[in-house]
Amino acid sequence: CVCVCVVISIMLACMAVEYLQKFYNLPKKPSGRIRRSGPSFTSKVKDMQSFFGLNATGVLDSETLEVMRSPRCGVPDVEEYSNAQGTRWNKNIITYRYLLYTRDLPRSTVDFLLETAFRVWARASSLTFVRMHSHNADIMVEFVTSDHGDLYPFDGPRGTLAHAFGPGLGVGGDTHFDDDERWTTGKTGFNLHVVAAHEFGHALGLKHSRNPESLMYPTYKSSRGASLLASEDVANINTLYSKLL
Ligand SMILES: [Zn+2]
Ligand SMILES: [Zn+2]
Repeated sequence: CVCVCVVISIMLACMAVEYLQKFYNLPKKPSGRIRRSGPSFTSKVKDMQSFFGLNATGVLDSETLEVMRSPRCGVPDVEEYSNAQGTRWNKNIITYRYLLYTRDLPRSTVDFLLETAFRVWARASSLTFVRMHSHNADIMVEFVTSDHGDLYPFDGPRGTLAHAFGPGLGVGGDTHFDDDERWTTGKTGFNLHVVAAHEFGHALGLKHSRNPESLMYPTYKSSRGASLLASEDVANINTLYSKLL
């Protein structure tokens, strides 16, 4: 029936608007009204399509909607100009600390999955990671849900899985996991090791990649090579930290 189709297409357009506001800097209209045919909406759809290697038509086709529905990282795919964080740490020994754990897995398992996620980057670079049990660390790791004290509330199961702030003081480097997800060690639910290694890439200053082989690709993939990193990731972390020392 026509009415059902209209309702469904409005729902999809709302989802698309929300996605583009979160990840592609689509401006929020102060009135709260959605203009889904305006030039800025269409150009943001095109930006998103070209990021993911789709046909940049500006039309919400089924392929585009499928990508928008895929579980992913909460960090935007385009720069946020208001974000004045630095681009890297000016040191090669970086500290981290776990504040809040998930109940999905034993603590020792969480520790192991996160340690090995740090090790992915340590092996590829000149960086060393040191765990702290008290005081402030550069990278504070927490499992939290919905509103959790920054400007980026989580959204319940699926959708946004985690996010991390780029290097800097205060919140810089901090990494948050959405505890409404089911965190696992394997291929069901969401693999904590894979998601953590991606997020720690942001905490070190890396941005999203358009290359689906890169660990820094924005959408979640459970199946990755044992080393997780593509050659692009190794090159990027070394370029970023090459001028240290
Ligand atoms: Zn990300
Ligand atoms: Zn957060």
